[in-house]
Amino acid sequence: MRTYKELADLIFPDIKDTIEDLEKRYPERNLPEGAEVTRFAPSPTGFLHTGSLFTTLVGQKIAKQSNGVFYTRLEDTDTKREIAGSGQVLLDQLKVFGVFPNEGYLGDHSEGNYGPYIQSQREGIYKIVIKALLEQGKAYPCFCTREDLDILRKSQEEKKLIPGYYGEHAKCRFLTTDEQYDKIVAGVPFVIRFKSSGNHENKVSVHDLVRGDLELSQNDQDIVIYKSDGLPTYHFAHLVDDHFMRTTIVTRGEEWLPSLPIHIELFETMGWKAPKYAHLPVIMKTENGVKRKLSKRKDKEAATSFFLEEGYPAFALKQYLFTIANSNYEEWQIANPDLSFEDFTLSFDKMSLFGALFDNEKLKFFAREYFGKMRGNELKDFVKEWAKEYNEEVYNLIVRDEDFFARILDIEKDKPNPRKDYATCSEILPKISFMFDEYYEEIMKKELPWNPNMPKDVIVSVLQDFIDTLDFSKGEQEWFNGLKELGLRHKFAESGKIYKANKDAYIGQVGDVAEMVRISLSGSKQSPNIFYVLNILGTEKVKRRIELAISLLK
Ligand code: GLU
Repeated sequence: MRTYKELADLIFPDIKDTIEDLEKRYPERNLPEGAEVTRFAPSPTGFLHTGSLFTTLVGQKIAKQSNGVFYTRLEDTDTKREIAGSGQVLLDQLKVFGVFPNEGYLGDHSEGNYGPYIQSQREGIYKIVIKALLEQGKAYPCFCTREDLDILRKSQEEKKLIPGYYGEHAKCRFLTTDEQYDKIVAGVPFVIRFKSSGNHENKVSVHDLVRGDLELSQNDQDIVIYKSDGLPTYHFAHLVDDHFMRTTIVTRGEEWLPSLPIHIELFETMGWKAPKYAHLPVIMKTENGVKRKLSKRKDKEAATSFFLEEGYPAFALKQYLFTIANSNYEEWQIANPDLSFEDFTLSFDKMSLFGALFDNEKLKFFAREYFGKMRGNELKDFVKEWAKEYNEEVYNLIVRDEDFFARILDIEKDKPNPRKDYATCSEILPKISFMFDEYYEEIMKKELPWNPNMPKDVIVSVLQDFIDTLDFSKGEQEWFNGLKELGLRHKFAESGKIYKANKDAYIGQVGDVAEMVRISLSGSKQSPNIFYVLNILGTEKVKRRIELAISLLK
């Protein structure tokens, strides 16, 4: 009978290195006590999922606050799902969100002593470990075809058995080494499976940093570790990579929790210390009352690029994700408005166990706060950067007259409680387009929202008086007092209160006067503070606009 060693040599004749060689090549990291090594391990499937950004932020933060290392590894072993070039896109997007790994796959190059950091370039390493498992009889070649596996699945379904390749169902585990050897020599295609010694009726105890102590059923599946294309499966690559890259905490989505017994068994079989695990909550959404995971196909919020296209500040999305990460974060942020998540200490035990619901209103709150703190010029620069990439129309308006744009965005920003009008850059133009003549002219072609109870000739005489006495040079209060006087001349009370107390004496109140001016200048009943609008437009434009409104009323 052939030995396991002969079988292993037949399958991997060129592999001479041993696990000891790998241990030497990738020694324990020399880090201070308590320093954690975390990683982001995306598959290059074309986009950065919001859930992945969340996991990344947590991983990076944990490494940073423990003076550890955060690295990136490209998991490209599923060649069917891979989209060429998307690894680079992922790294570019991470940069936008301020994620700069200390080492690993960085898009155009890799850095660090624990590489290669692209799984498809690590074949040689995986083979060394698989060969060692084969030599010990802890892994074996499996020659089952897709049809064989289909038949197995159907018969298990009929007998109501747990599906899978395990125990007595694992046909190829019972082949003798001679049989295995001969099939390989004959060129029969094969994969390599791990020979599990578990029993799903027994429990394995594990500690999850988020979920605490768990009792899970042992793994008993002979999972595939090496595919016929020569690449490892996720489970096996996780074992090898996180061991030899010396990861101390695996932060990953809770969808991996059911696979944990497999990973525990793999580490135990190798005699390696498993990393600590933190299975993070996935981000959910409710649709028709049903809670479900954010879906790449159905939900625009599933891709971080959506937020960038809309022009949310990346910072606000990060802040929002921290509220998902730790239940005490929001309170802390509100109590410490001048600090950011960089200053916050994240802890796994304050993390929610269940999928967090995506709360767009909360994200908008953070975004408004973020933009609210910016003065017009700074906000204009931010919008310009965004527009350059995502909105040509806005970009052209900005570069035409940057100062004009900045002044519009600065409306009421000099006040003690500055306005928080915008959550996204794309919201801005619809709110301020009336300031630009070409949009204003279009707006004025539509039906205007004049008060139907107000006689047209009254509006005309108020507006005419307004341009005849126009003076906004002395400040907002004086200007408003002037508006009140103007109103009085036309029988409009100085306040709503006075009007209500004596409705017969007046046609309306000063608010009605302001509304007439507002509609004339902007075509709408809602506009930013008129005093600022007057100042930015300047006397000439204001006159022209009021004259246009008068002509439309006649
Ligand atoms: N490539 C895996 C994924 O994208 C990584 C999971 C992990 O972090 O281990 O889901």
